[in-house]
Amino acid sequence: MNGRSDILETPIEYVKGIGPSRGDMLRKELGIHTIQDLLFAFPFRYIDRTTFYLIKDLTGEGDSIQLKGTLISLEKIKGKNQRTRLTGMLKDSTGFLELVWFQGASWLEKTLVVGEEYIVFGKMSVFGGKKTMAHPEMELMSEAGTAMSKTFDPVYSSTEKLDAKGIDSKSRRKILRPLLLSLQEYDLAETLPPYLVKQLHFCTRLEAMRWIHFPENEKQREQAGNRIKFEEFFYVQLRLLQSKQYRQFKYKSVPFLKVGDIFHTFYQHKLPFALTDAQKKVIKEIRGDLAQPRQMNRLLQGDVGSGKTIVALLTMLLAIDNGFQCCLMAPTEILAQQHYASIKELLGDLLVEVAFLSGSVKGKKRQIVLDGLGDGKINIVIGTHALLEDPVNFAHLGLAIVDEQHRFGVAQRARLWKKNDQFVPHVLVMTATPIPRTLAMTLYGDLDVSVIDSLPPGRKEIKTIHKYESARPQLIQFMHAEIAKGRQIYIVYPLIEESEKLDLQNLNDGYERLLQYFPQPNFQISVVHGRMKAAEKDWEMQRFIERKTQIMVATTVIEVGVNVPNASVMIIENTERFGLSQLHQLRGRVGRGAEQSYCILMSDTKLSKESRERIATMVRTNNGFDIAEADLRLRGPGDIQGTQQSGVIDFKLLQINKDQGIMQIARQIALDIMSKDPLLDLSEHVNIRQTVIKLRQKFKDWGRIS
Ligand code: ADP
Ligand code: MG
Repeated sequence: MNGRSDILETPIEYVKGIGPSRGDMLRKELGIHTIQDLLFAFPFRYIDRTTFYLIKDLTGEGDSIQLKGTLISLEKIKGKNQRTRLTGMLKDSTGFLELVWFQGASWLEKTLVVGEEYIVFGKMSVFGGKKTMAHPEMELMSEAGTAMSKTFDPVYSSTEKLDAKGIDSKSRRKILRPLLLSLQEYDLAETLPPYLVKQLHFCTRLEAMRWIHFPENEKQREQAGNRIKFEEFFYVQLRLLQSKQYRQFKYKSVPFLKVGDIFHTFYQHKLPFALTDAQKKVIKEIRGDLAQPRQMNRLLQGDVGSGKTIVALLTMLLAIDNGFQCCLMAPTEILAQQHYASIKELLGDLLVEVAFLSGSVKGKKRQIVLDGLGDGKINIVIGTHALLEDPVNFAHLGLAIVDEQHRFGVAQRARLWKKNDQFVPHVLVMTATPIPRTLAMTLYGDLDVSVIDSLPPGRKEIKTIHKYESARPQLIQFMHAEIAKGRQIYIVYPLIEESEKLDLQNLNDGYERLLQYFPQPNFQISVVHGRMKAAEKDWEMQRFIERKTQIMVATTVIEVGVNVPNASVMIIENTERFGLSQLHQLRGRVGRGAEQSYCILMSDTKLSKESRERIATMVRTNNGFDIAEADLRLRGPGDIQGTQQSGVIDFKLLQINKDQGIMQIARQIALDIMSKDPLLDLSEHVNIRQTVIKLRQKFKDWGRIS
């Protein structure tokens, strides 16, 4: 029994049809070591063998389709530049279809036989009014046993080397089909409790495996897919929830039980505005965390301008009331300074000692801050990553707040924790990058998330307008009018990493052109780009902040957090070259004052479908979460901030942007199980416990967010 149950661990060279040399290739090229690996290398598409199309029914360009016909001619043609192509003509009872291959012409010419009947699979296109299929897969009718049985044939991802070795989809089908038939139910032991399998109407694991590779119909494929996707996500969620449980057990902290004088005085006498309901809700959540004897580890998401700073300050005041120090770390000097200035202003004459620390604070000034932190006189320190350095020691750090968390690495953030050697400080991480709910659930399933989902009242919605180059003269007029009203304007140029030089030229050209319409000395223009030294950049930004310049021409370096409430116009050049979340971040630079603000998206008239949709989304909505959802839909999760390194979204079958229904169910069930049976002790959960143990050996610790 035992030997048999390990059959999935069998090295692949022992599988019939593979052998040592092919086994070696599979290991090297695809990381397939065992039968288990082979089974879990799912097909990425299927050839629909259930339907044969007729040539006369082929209309436009479309999906991949299957045809049946006789190859009536084959001809090698030498094109320009000595490139050879092979063309063939396929005939069925209804018409003719041209086939063409640009690669492998000689080899194909040798293997294809004129006069034979073939099953042809590929993508149809219309070329000069003629129906053509480029690079079709050809299978001799006489050899296509599977085609006769009308199934879906799996197609697997491969590599050039594998294909050259003859390990293509066809041969993998030949290996997998008998293998799957030889496996028994007990070889693929159940990983879910029977009650769940029943409740969710799942097929068995063996069925899932057979049907995902060789479905006889769409329904089988869907059933198999559902079960496999569920398990992928369910076990990720379970692991995240377990690691949260573990963290809460391991990282003890000191509860902040007192709501004292400082908090009260501030709340009752200094608060410059009424908090929004969203802010109140978040503060309540934070207070709930802080009252526990374990570390708070909370992510605060809120769109730009949603009012995160005041939440951060109130949290810090709670810490101070309980006798602890706090730090607030921001990713840039300018941001840190802005936090420092606004927090000083908010506190007014309240007896709270606030200090600033960055790389630019040197000598005696620096020593005073370090001493104040060491002897506990300073209550709040605001700064850059300079706060992480070794000489920075606290008497009793109780709370660390990190702004724009994605700008810091995990390791950097972890250093903050170590600044207290008796217990770990509570951690609040703030971000203005909205993460779609579904993605947050995947990435941060072990983290508590608070969301400020509405803006403070009285804010005028930013008007977003899409314009083409032809509207440039009106744009200049508009800019003049806004400047005459005393407003300031940003103009942002894209930054492509491959061609920094070109970008710079782009920006410089724009600047030169601008000078003609906004000549000195009546007008002043700041320029900021990535190639400038930090000090130069700061100086230019400072001039803009102090209203010494009316226009700021920049690359995306201004994206993060800069607050100039008087700037009310954001002009984005070459909008088509920006991603959605970046556009949204940029737009967030305006709309911070009382004035009506504008975001003008300049673009080329030739736009891809995706660019068009991105721009339309920007024009349609100001809501960061809507935009994040749209972004996820358009691009998939791959490019979304913070996901690349995490490895959390590395699913084989599940697609985060498409399988949200399954994800929600799996998440809920994982939550229910963990709350009912946190240690997975119940006998009904024995399958789950064993699977978790197996997986734990496979995956090392999951990245923490803070
Ligand atoms: P962000 O979330 O981008 O950090 P801030 O905390 O900088 O936003 O707040 C943006 C602006 O809104 C600030 O000028 C702040 O004073 C103001 N603000 C914050 N909360 C409120 C509120 N409840 N009512 C009115 N204005 C608010
Ligand atoms: Mg902020």
